[in-house]
Amino acid sequence: MRLVLLGLPGAGKGTQGELIASKYGIPHISTGHIIRQAVSAGSDLGQKANLYISGGNLVPDELMIQLVYERIREPDCTQGWILDGFPRTVHQARALDQCLAEAGAAVQMAIDIRITQEEAIKRIAQRRMCSQCGAVYHLKYYRTKGEGVCDICGGDLFRREDDNEETARKRLEVHMRQTHPVTHYYAQDGRLYSIDGVRSIDEVFADVENYLSGLVEGPDAGEVL
Ligand code: AMP
Repeated sequence: MRLVLLGLPGAGKGTQGELIASKYGIPHISTGHIIRQAVSAGSDLGQKANLYISGGNLVPDELMIQLVYERIREPDCTQGWILDGFPRTVHQARALDQCLAEAGAAVQMAIDIRITQEEAIKRIAQRRMCSQCGAVYHLKYYRTKGEGVCDICGGDLFRREDDNEETARKRLEVHMRQTHPVTHYYAQDGRLYSIDGVRSIDEVFADVENYLSGLVEGPDAGEVL
């Protein structure tokens, strides 16, 4: 199963990506999480990416495409993956399709989790993230059992630097200009599936499962990249 999750920052891509990963046993690959880890490790990629992230801009396509090509060739990806945060430009979407076509595979479904911009700003303001595994929580709607500690791995929670209101608004503007066209790209050939994201996590996931049930039974659900 090869899926991409689309939607504004705060739409719930990370949360739904984790739920899909644990139900279907395929990796949830968040490009934002990979880059944040690279930034904290001070790697070459992290140093190059840091300025873009902190300004709310996109990291250049070529860096991101290379990063994703390498990640989806790792052994845990042979039965598929869920990409969260990639593609973020039409150029990235085309490059991914080309890379997969060379291996006789394809993105099967692009799931667009839809929320309004105002809802995105509200959610981002109260979002917290695990410093170790990247799990995402919300101070009101998706709380941890222990105060400030991740339910999954026990890591400390933090507020992303780019989740401040000014950078969040910039990210939304960048999203509408550069990322929103990606939905049209997948709609052209019938791969786009939209979901109303302004509902509970369980309700959104029920719609996701409904869409995915068709794929799981399909002939091409788990071919090797
Ligand atoms: P996210 O955690 O998905 O919100 O990503 C955080 C930041 O990482 C974004 O605001 C971008 O600066 C950068 N980023 C993540 N994925 C991509 C991508 N596919 N293309 C360009 N920049 C990205």
